[in-house]
Amino acid sequence: MRPIRYLKVADEAAALAACAEEDSVYIAGGTTLVDLMRLEVMTPGRVVDVNALPLGKIEVGPTGARIGAMVRNSDLAYHPDIVKRWPLLSEALLAGASAQIRNMATVGGNLLQRTRCPYFRDRATACNKRDPGSGCAALDGYNRSHAILGGSDKCIAAHPSDMCVALAALDAAVQVRGPDGERSVPIGDFHLLPGEHPERESVLQKGELVTAVTLPPLEGYRQGSYFKIRDRASYAFALVSVAAALRVDGGKIRGARLALGGVGTKPWRAVEAEKHLVGKAPTDAVFAEAAKAALAAAKPRRHNQFKVELARRTIVRALASTRGAA
Ligand code: SF4
Repeated sequence: MRPIRYLKVADEAAALAACAEEDSVYIAGGTTLVDLMRLEVMTPGRVVDVNALPLGKIEVGPTGARIGAMVRNSDLAYHPDIVKRWPLLSEALLAGASAQIRNMATVGGNLLQRTRCPYFRDRATACNKRDPGSGCAALDGYNRSHAILGGSDKCIAAHPSDMCVALAALDAAVQVRGPDGERSVPIGDFHLLPGEHPERESVLQKGELVTAVTLPPLEGYRQGSYFKIRDRASYAFALVSVAAALRVDGGKIRGARLALGGVGTKPWRAVEAEKHLVGKAPTDAVFAEAAKAALAAAKPRRHNQFKVELARRTIVRALASTRGAA
């Protein structure tokens, strides 16, 4: 039995002071952390409970939305202003996990959820993310669920979040508080590629606290559905997912937002595909070329080659749906 200390904090200053300690980690909904503690993949000496922090508001106005880090995934998904103005986000949240987990999981925790790579959770296998320098069992192992974009020879784990894919397409920013005050990190810069250090997954420094996510308004865009392709209809992680938004005017695409899940080591903004779309007519042929551009850098492994074609087709489907959106 491993002893674990528990501390409940009521304000941000107390949270920051507590988590500055080496063996302390924040806990909110606990939907990832508790699993990993049971498996002894994460072994903090102390958990700092941030559920009482006043970070549970969703504020929506003409300049966008500010969503507190402690907002539960289900409350965000069903918030009337989010459903109306950022439906992609609502749909992505409802595509993730189960109703029970969404009732517990928080926005801050969703941003920081750990990979579902099975080797990461199995302490009998080599995993650079869990034990830096031990190797990567997935490279030559069973890698059907793994990433085809953004991997390295140290790690090819896919990022698991649905919410983050929508946030990437919506140009969200993550608000972070540390000892020196608050800073704003664009969502595209928040998660890190594995490179040489897969154990580092975000730009958060030790003890920093996610306080909120902000969304800019998405004026003039048509948002398609969040498309998630998975092995079963409920409670499964994405093989491929796509979040798409288009601004069409005068028969031409004037703006494009496209982000992918299930295929990248971080929520994947398909920048090359977006460039390909802008200035063209929204036709199926143009969508197919954009999809090709999105996957041009893909490096599939033995068991996940199917993801390349699956991703292309899902992109075309998502863009076609967006074109037809009222
Ligand atoms: Fe670990 Fe990443 Fe390799 Fe999975 S893919 S075993 S998480 S290093």
